[in-house]
Amino acid sequence: MDQHLGQRTIKSCVSTTGIGVHTGNKVSIKFKPASENTGIRFIRTDLSNTPAIKACASRVSNTMLATTLSQSGASVSCIEHLMAALWALGIDNLVIEIDSEEVPIMDGSAAPFIYLLKQAGIRQHNTAKQFIKIKKALEVTAGDAKACLLPYDGFKASYTFVYDHPVFNRYPKHTSLDFTKTSFIDEASKARSFGLTKDLDQAQALNKCLGSSLENAVGIDDHHILNQDGLRYEDEFVKHKILDAIGDLYLLGKSLLGEFIGYKSGHPTNNALARELLANPDAWELVSLNGQPQQASTIPFMQPIAA
Ligand SMILES: [Zn+2]
Repeated sequence: MDQHLGQRTIKSCVSTTGIGVHTGNKVSIKFKPASENTGIRFIRTDLSNTPAIKACASRVSNTMLATTLSQSGASVSCIEHLMAALWALGIDNLVIEIDSEEVPIMDGSAAPFIYLLKQAGIRQHNTAKQFIKIKKALEVTAGDAKACLLPYDGFKASYTFVYDHPVFNRYPKHTSLDFTKTSFIDEASKARSFGLTKDLDQAQALNKCLGSSLENAVGIDDHHILNQDGLRYEDEFVKHKILDAIGDLYLLGKSLLGEFIGYKSGHPTNNALARELLANPDAWELVSLNGQPQQASTIPFMQPIAA
């Protein structure tokens, strides 16, 4: 008889260091196993009372250039790529100790976090993992930006980017990925943040993006991609927008069974969509799924646990 898919954590502690893309400061981050129903919890070890900040859509306090969580006066920012990595590995419960206000940017994608957490190993709890199954369409708009969730038996995401620029005009401005058939880890997790050098000067004048470099972003001037090796995927820009949306929506605390559609959307719209879902409990239900954790086919968008 099938058993249910259980919640997941990691087997052992792992840590790394990197820089905060906005502060430019060095950051140490440590991932520790957590018991069932803990959720994802950040601990600010640099603050005197080591406050905990729960990863949760209703605790998002700022969405300018990154997603920031706040709780009891403490904040942690730039959490979205890490959250996308946790979604990819199906990790439900984790304690994350961090000695700064910002998750390190690593290479600007989710891939370094996935690599590190796979080194720690994935452990399944006995408690059933719950999924949010979309039953009715939800939509939010902000100006001409739009984000939607629709019913779908699996998880897929599409994104449309509208920007008339000589570089963006050379690459796809739309992509659609069905993670029931396509591996997020192989096909999207390596997509990096990107930005125009002219916007970088403006952001740095506001003390943002002080740690930004071609080591952690795709840099674009008026006509060229500045990174010597070019892009990792032809549609890296739109794939990164999907990666951001997945990370932002994983603040719901559970993986979605449904379809995400984004049009010119970003962190503010992603968080508005998550809050819209929380405000409409008739549009979704919690479900658990049967299956062996080693079988990728049971729920293909989630990384199987290595035997
Ligand atoms: Zn991003």
